[in-house]
Amino acid sequence: MKVMLHEMSWTEAKEYSIKSNIAIIPVGANEQHGPQNPLGTDHLIARAIAEETAKRTGVLCLQVIPFGVSSHHKQFWGTIYISPETFKDYVKEVCLALNYYGIRKVVIVNGHGGNLYALIEMARELREQEIFVSIFQWWSAANKLLPDLFKPEERRHAAAEETSLNLALYPHIVDMDKAVDEEPRRHIVQAEGITLPLDTVDYTSSGVFGKSTTASAEKGKKVFEVVVKELVKHVNLLKEAKIEDLLQKLKV
Ligand SMILES: [Zn+2]
Repeated sequence: MKVMLHEMSWTEAKEYSIKSNIAIIPVGANEQHGPQNPLGTDHLIARAIAEETAKRTGVLCLQVIPFGVSSHHKQFWGTIYISPETFKDYVKEVCLALNYYGIRKVVIVNGHGGNLYALIEMARELREQEIFVSIFQWWSAANKLLPDLFKPEERRHAAAEETSLNLALYPHIVDMDKAVDEEPRRHIVQAEGITLPLDTVDYTSSGVFGKSTTASAEKGKKVFEVVVKELVKHVNLLKEAKIEDLLQKLKV
């Protein structure tokens, strides 16, 4: 059975939406991930997790939306950034297009933390239109489900955990000879309770936050398997849930 929307014909898409009202959309970013990882890291990982989950659950999966909210990485070449508003509206309109065919439950597989605020806002707006959107972030799941697999300095941007997933999924585009460890700098005016409008360049020169040289394909495979299993669990629960139970209203 096909699960990728772009591989279906319109008659197959029609058949799917007659029997099901749920879809998965992977979203990510195209931004620097240190000298060893591809720029596409965030959307490539999100795509792999979404597609595998779709295969295991039989739920419709869309193509990955590759560009996200990444202006904080712009000083590093190749980073393509769009505004939070544009990102939110784009993903929202994709959900609304699906809704035209009866899709009322959407699982966003988000590969980039910088997208989260825009996605949360979008999910709230879509709830107003009786569309239920959940957001999955693999690193949050991995942190909880595999707390000892990586040290905190290996779990940051472009560090060992993310690099390991790339090694497991896309080894031909990772160059471990270029992997570095870089302790992020503390800003000169930083103090407790202070939030600053910082870009990545203020913390690191390589683009890596923390330790990346300890990455391995084996650890990456473990993360992939565990996070996909968790997402499959969520998708199956969501598939079965009634829309009126998801979008509660007070009974009068
Ligand atoms: Zn990333």
